[in-house]
Amino acid sequence: MSTINAPFNSRRSFLQTMAAVGVGTAATRLTAQEKIILAPPEEQAVDLTLPEPVKRKLGWAIVGLGKLAIEEILPAFAESKYSKPTALVSGHPDKAGKIADYYGIGQEHIYNYDNYDKLANDETVDVIYIVLPNSMHAEFTIRGLKAGKHVFCEKPMAGNVDECEQMIKASQETGKKLGIAYRLHYEPMNMKVMQLCKEKAFGDIKLFSSSNCQDVKAPNIRLSKELDGGPLGDIGIYSINAARYCIGQEPTEVFATAYHGDDVRFREVPQSVAYTMKYPGDVLASCECSFSTTESRRFRVVGTEGFVEMDPSFSYRGLKLFSQNAEKQLIQHSLPQVDHFASEMDDFSQCVLQNRETKTPGEMGLLDAKIIAALQKSIESGRAETV
Ligand code: NDP
Repeated sequence: MSTINAPFNSRRSFLQTMAAVGVGTAATRLTAQEKIILAPPEEQAVDLTLPEPVKRKLGWAIVGLGKLAIEEILPAFAESKYSKPTALVSGHPDKAGKIADYYGIGQEHIYNYDNYDKLANDETVDVIYIVLPNSMHAEFTIRGLKAGKHVFCEKPMAGNVDECEQMIKASQETGKKLGIAYRLHYEPMNMKVMQLCKEKAFGDIKLFSSSNCQDVKAPNIRLSKELDGGPLGDIGIYSINAARYCIGQEPTEVFATAYHGDDVRFREVPQSVAYTMKYPGDVLASCECSFSTTESRRFRVVGTEGFVEMDPSFSYRGLKLFSQNAEKQLIQHSLPQVDHFASEMDDFSQCVLQNRETKTPGEMGLLDAKIIAALQKSIESGRAETV
């Protein structure tokens, strides 16, 4: 914080100055410099406290210009204090060119998937944001880290546990930061739930239930096995992750069952998955995810002395949070709505600027990948599986 002195600290000194320069006498002509005096002195703070100016916005390269990048991530930079878009990576140069013009990014900062590694020489880029199909996350994260850049990667971190481990290893070897885009960890209502659960505001948590469902039209990367699509990794992961931040533990055993059905969209990936997870301390989670229903995005945590519910909980906007305490009073919590993407990008930029750890590191993505792997194993075996 810095402090400056206002030019006038009393009405008298203001009036004296006005008289000295002859303000108020029609006959007097003022010089340009004298005319600067404008606002009344009583509105001027004697000691004006100013926030520390933002020193530098980090430059972000956006990799994969699909729906999420175009509709949510790029517009979110308008809300960012510490992040700005400085490069684009795309397989479609025309599209990338138009987007670059729109966001004031020079055409020389457009790359494709072959010359991607040249980002190493682009001094405008500090962070690479991977917004590609899930099957490409590991390769482009590792190449990005090896190019000497910090990497922020969309969820799910990768298609399998092995890839997640390789990504973490690359981050350790290069000394560059790796963050996973779990945007709800930067969203005030989900953060409030995390805090209330940690403080045991609802007694001992016993049950968690969650639904994350939507209708996915073909063609879509989510319907491709080769691109590591499927409802568990795409939307089921929100319930898996929320269960962790509400329950505060890892599941020991899981069971899942899935339907493909006759719809041609679901030849390669299931349309719906229902799954349960068992945690130490008699805690059970029951969850569902689907690509063939209307939108349903909610969770409820039930404890021995109350419950908390978010509906919707996982959407980009319009989230609602309710809780019931031991006296059975239902409370609707009112908290600011923020842009989730600006919030997560700015936090990661600050991690880089201040050299601190992100709260959504690769290790979190790996934990979720292990649970998803156990759930997939259970779908195949028809039995409960250990994590
Ligand atoms: P899209 O299919 O809309 O976009 C993916 C982009 O990846 C394409 O536009 C393309 O960009 C690029 N790409 C490169 N190779 C391929 C390929 N073989 N097939 C298809 N696309 C390819 O997907 P989304 O934007 O919806 O999702 C991208 C990622 O973001 C996924 O990992 C998804 O899980 C995640 N996501 C996260 C959300 C969140 O809330 N955090 C919400 C939605 C998605 P180009 O044409 O520029 O080459």
